[in-house]
Amino acid sequence: MATVAINLATGTFQQEEIIVGIDLGTTNSLVAYVHPDTRQPLAINDQGRGTIVPSVVHFPADGGEPVVGTEAREFLLTDPQRTIYSVKRLLGKSYRDLGNHAEQLGYKVIDDNSEGLVKIRVDDRFYSPIELSADILKELRARAEHALKTPVNRAVITVPAYFNDSQRQATRDAGRLAGLEVLRIVNEPTAAALAYGIGLDPSDEKTVAVYDLGGGTFDISILRIQQGIFEVLSTNGDTYLGGDDLDRVVAEHWTTTFQLPATFQTNPHLQQQLRLAAEMAKKYLSQHDDFTTQLTDEAGQVFPVTLTRAQFNDLIRPLVDRTIAACRQALADSTLAASDLDAVLLVGGSTRVPLVYDAVSEFFDQPANNSLNPDEVVALGAAIQADILAGNRRDVLLLDVTPLTLGIETLGGLLDPIIPRNSKIPTKAGRQYTTSVDGQVNLKIAVYQGERDLVSQNRKLGEFTLRGIPAMPAGLPKVDVNFLLNADGILQVEAIELRSNTRQQVEIKPQYGLTDEQVEQMLMDSLVHAKEDVSARLLIEARTAAEQLLYQVGNFTKKNRQHLTEEELTATEAQVERLRTALAGTERDPILKAMDELDELTRPYAERVMNISIQQAMAGKKIG
Ligand code: ADP
Ligand code: MG
Repeated sequence: MATVAINLATGTFQQEEIIVGIDLGTTNSLVAYVHPDTRQPLAINDQGRGTIVPSVVHFPADGGEPVVGTEAREFLLTDPQRTIYSVKRLLGKSYRDLGNHAEQLGYKVIDDNSEGLVKIRVDDRFYSPIELSADILKELRARAEHALKTPVNRAVITVPAYFNDSQRQATRDAGRLAGLEVLRIVNEPTAAALAYGIGLDPSDEKTVAVYDLGGGTFDISILRIQQGIFEVLSTNGDTYLGGDDLDRVVAEHWTTTFQLPATFQTNPHLQQQLRLAAEMAKKYLSQHDDFTTQLTDEAGQVFPVTLTRAQFNDLIRPLVDRTIAACRQALADSTLAASDLDAVLLVGGSTRVPLVYDAVSEFFDQPANNSLNPDEVVALGAAIQADILAGNRRDVLLLDVTPLTLGIETLGGLLDPIIPRNSKIPTKAGRQYTTSVDGQVNLKIAVYQGERDLVSQNRKLGEFTLRGIPAMPAGLPKVDVNFLLNADGILQVEAIELRSNTRQQVEIKPQYGLTDEQVEQMLMDSLVHAKEDVSARLLIEARTAAEQLLYQVGNFTKKNRQHLTEEELTATEAQVERLRTALAGTERDPILKAMDELDELTRPYAERVMNISIQQAMAGKKIG
């Protein structure tokens, strides 16, 4: 519900806009807000569908609008190629970052350019993890608007404490694509602490551990909170350990103990039935001591299965022990002892398992705190942060922050953010870049300020050139660009080529040459153009990747002509032509499709040529 207030000074109605808090989870997502009357944070339960929205997007075979949430989850086994889950794992990542984990997903992850960001192919369309996350955010936004009966345009979104710059930026872009102005990206453990009221009083000085066991991931963070600053002392965890693994060990136990027929491993419907029964058993045993149900195969044969809490505990103990080992490491890294911690907070649906509660309390030598709903706690904390940013809690200290994003220009005229807007100052951040052309000896570094994706629409603060990079093939130099923003708002930019230790430094000031109105205008513009900007960015990224691929393929065929057949050369030329035609257009998908095809076509030759060169290198060399 929105409240309406009358501004006595102007005699006009003022609508208090609600800023929501969003937990964009790997398995489940939630949206929450602070109720304007009660001042309590609440998770939104639209139309009695519950507060939890499974983070799953399904694209119907008929090409209709994507479906998100519980309805989409039904398709995980029956239509896996059109049903995308765990997209958070792919956010802001390149194919190289993913490694062999991509093969474990039920849908197709494209490997078009191993340095580029991953894309997911569904039929003939290509989606970036940003677009898929935006679909989930749109659903959350729609639910919030429906339940609160007011437009929702601004949000705080949480991310794991270990998320890097590129993952945070991808989360921001997803928000903008969903029509949300992302006021701040908050660490999940910070949100959990806020939900427990820790850090709300600036005089609070606390050290806490946040143990978060979700559906597919485990995170432990040790935080120190003082004067309203949340400092992450250490993090640890396992990005492939969570409630799904508990379900899996139960299913495996039943399969062997009750000799379930092999169809329970092969038939998608039976697999689903087994998995859901295992999850149901797990949840039931969080409250009770014995679970019984029956499974039915396609011939109608019934298989009764049972599980006691004691059996369940034995099955999952090795997994729980792994989380405790990570806690031990995190504590060691923070150089604290368990007795230094003021609280241990439990987050994530899987912390409802009694063995988890017991193991965590025992390790930290104090009763863990689970008084808030572990599914909702992160979203509730995000809502509190949103309420602080809305100016509704004046008693809470707001730190000095940069009003606009600072970044540099990258290929295609894009702004690559280095210090995001709303970062506390003083602050330091950096990124690594490389060259795009063979033998490039100079690299121009142009610094911009603003929220738009294209540098041309932001404000240029200055530029300089890093000279004297030794000539190397494109992609080999490693150039670190570091931004240091001091408490007076003076930005120092430094570029270093790491292989040769070539460096250059400049000071850029004054960077607050903008009036408040100008800053406001830039933010408004970025809001109005968010959707346009993100699609322009995606198109430019596709073009840049395509140009690099053309360059690589051109180089490769030139150097290895003698190892290729006439047919291979003609096929490659024809596909290169198709890619050039696609590049001449303004659509992204045909470019990605042509790149994908060119990549598939040339990969076998590349492997063959590689083998030839290895053989040549080995020839004449004696081993031993
Ligand atoms: P994420 O943060 O990864 O999106 P969640 O915190 O929503 O995930 O946790 C989802 C997991 O919590 C699922 O594996 C689910 O089975 C598990 N879970 C939910 N309720 C219970 C319960 N009562 N007992 C045990 N596990 C539960
Ligand atoms: Mg979570």
